[in-house]
Amino acid sequence: MDCIFCKIVAGEIPSKIVFEDDKVIAFNDISPAAPVHILIIPKKHINSALTLSDDDYDVISSIFKTAVRLAKEFNIAEDGFRIVNNCGKNGGQTVEHLHFHLIGGRCLTWPPG
Ligand code: AMP
Ligand code: ZN
Repeated sequence: MDCIFCKIVAGEIPSKIVFEDDKVIAFNDISPAAPVHILIIPKKHINSALTLSDDDYDVISSIFKTAVRLAKEFNIAEDGFRIVNNCGKNGGQTVEHLHFHLIGGRCLTWPPG
């Protein structure tokens, strides 16, 4: 499958991996929007939140657990951070492999553009 994030999981393209276990992998976003910008993804290819099957929901809890762990590790927990999933065209999803952005290290504005 021609999926850039599957290639990162397989180690076929380089990334700065900050966490990995049997279900999820987390790596620095190549184009960071803030001092801390980490992508957390399931190792399994899932297109988007819309295509999660019943068996896939477990990985969402692993992803949130990882996000909180990394927020503490990267010292953004106390000041606050954002966990974002973009879904589909209007949601701004550009990579069709489910991913969550962990963003922090500066004051983030709301609402998003
Ligand atoms: P989204 O717009 O929500 O689909 O987010 C996709 C994110 O993937 C963007 O923030 C990109 O900067 C990031 N990205 C794309 N290619 C790579 C890559 N090879 N390594 C790390 N991050 C990437
Ligand atoms: Zn993929």
